[in-house]
Amino acid sequence: MLRALIKIVGFVIIIAAATLGIARIKQSGETIDILAFGYQISLGPVQILLLFMLLALALWLGLKLIGLAISLWHFINGDETALSRYFAGRRERKGLQALTNTLMAMTAGDGKKAMAEANRSAQLLNAPRLTALLQAQAAVVAQDSNAAAIAFEALIDDPETRFAGITGAMRQRLALDDRRAALKLAEHGAKLQPKNDAILKQLFALQTQSGDWAGATETLALQLKAGHIPRDLHRRRSAVLLMAKSKSNGDDNASMIEANRLSPDLIPAAAAAADQLIKAGQIKEAEKILKKAWKSHPHPDLAAAFAAIDPDETAEDRATRFAPLIKLHPDHRETVVLQAQLMMAMGDMPGAKRALKPLAEADADAQICTLMAAITRDSHAAESRAWLAKAISAPAAPAWVCDKCGHPHENWGPICENCSSVDSLSWAQPTTHSAPRTISAQVLALLEDAQQTDPKNSPID
Ligand SMILES: [Zn+2]
Repeated sequence: MLRALIKIVGFVIIIAAATLGIARIKQSGETIDILAFGYQISLGPVQILLLFMLLALALWLGLKLIGLAISLWHFINGDETALSRYFAGRRERKGLQALTNTLMAMTAGDGKKAMAEANRSAQLLNAPRLTALLQAQAAVVAQDSNAAAIAFEALIDDPETRFAGITGAMRQRLALDDRRAALKLAEHGAKLQPKNDAILKQLFALQTQSGDWAGATETLALQLKAGHIPRDLHRRRSAVLLMAKSKSNGDDNASMIEANRLSPDLIPAAAAAADQLIKAGQIKEAEKILKKAWKSHPHPDLAAAFAAIDPDETAEDRATRFAPLIKLHPDHRETVVLQAQLMMAMGDMPGAKRALKPLAEADADAQICTLMAAITRDSHAAESRAWLAKAISAPAAPAWVCDKCGHPHENWGPICENCSSVDSLSWAQPTTHSAPRTISAQVLALLEDAQQTDPKNSPID
C-alpha cells in the first residue's frame, strides 16, 4: 500500500516537473546545449521530452538487468534456485495480473474475456484450486454451459473443492431447468455438509417439487437438528408434508390424523382429520378437533366439516349446535358470514342482514355482496339487483393466497401452484387480478334459481 502510494506520488512529481521544465523552455524559446564526445548538440523542447523518455526506459531496463545479474551471480555462487526464483516471480506477477483481469471482466459482465484471463491465470499460477474456481465462475458469467460443466467436474474431483463444485453444478442444472440432476447434486451436497442451511433449503424445495415427501421429511429433520428452523415450524411443515403424502396416496387416514396432531391449527389438516373421524363415527373427537382449529382461525372449511357432523338436522338445530363455535370469535369475518348463512337457512333474512351490516357497510367483497343480494332478493328487489351489480366489480373474497407470490388458489395445497413454495398458503384477500372469480356463476345461479340461497362457501348445504 505504502509502496504503491510512494510510486504514485513520485510519478506525479516527475510528470509535473517535466511539464513545468518543458513549458519554461518553450516560453523562453531556449534550447539546451549538450557537449558529448567532443560534439555539441542543441536540443529543442520535443527532443528533450524524447530524451527523458529514453532515459526512463534505459533506467527501467537497467534495473531489470541488475536484478537478473544479481540472480545470475547467486546462481554461479551455488544458489541453484536463484534463477528459477527470478523467473517464477515474474510468472507469478503475470498470473496475478491475469487473475485481477478475470475478476474485473467478471464484474463488468464480460464473460469471454473473463474465461480467457482465467485460463491464462491457470497456466501462470501454481494454484490449481483457486484457478479452477475462477475458471468455473468465468464460464458461468460467459453462459458457456459446456465449459462450466467441465470446470465444475474438475472441482468435484478434488475433495477440497467438491462441495463448491456440487453447488455450482446444481445451480447450473437449475438454470437449465434440469431438476432431476439438480436434485441428485443437492442430495450429494447435503451428505457432504448436512448442516449447510443453503443446501438443505434447496434440497427441501427440490424434494417437495418432485413429490419426494419422505425425502423432504428427512431434510426437515436435518434443518431442525442444525438449528435452522424452530421446533414449531418443524411440526407445522411435517404436518403439511403428511397432508401432501396423504393426498398423493389417495387420502390416507392415518397421515391426516397425524398431521392434525402435529399442527392442530393447520386448517386443511383439521378439516380432513375431522372428515375421517366423522366417517369412522368418532363424532366427539371430530368436534374437539374442529373447535380447537376454529379457536385458532375461523374458516369456512372448518364450518363445512362441522356441518357434516349432522347433515340431516333442521336449520334451527344446526344454529344451536354452531352457537359455541360462533361464541369463540364473534366479530371475525368468517364467523359473521357463518352466522348470516345460518340465519338465512332458518329464513331469518332481517337477522342475516343485521349480522352482515358491518361487513356490508365497509369495503364489501364479492361474497358479502352476493350474500346481501340473496338476503334482499324477495323483500327488496331493487336493492338486491344493486348488490348483484356491485358483486361483479367488488374485491375478491378471501381465498388461499400464496405469501410468497400472491397467487390465489381455489383449494388449499401443500405447494403453491405458481411458485412451488411449500406451506406458503394463507387465508387472505387476494390482491392480484388473477383472483378466482367464481362470482359470475354465483350471480347467475341467484338470478336463475329463485330457491337458491346458498352462495359460495355456505356450510348449510
Ligand atoms: Zn407462490
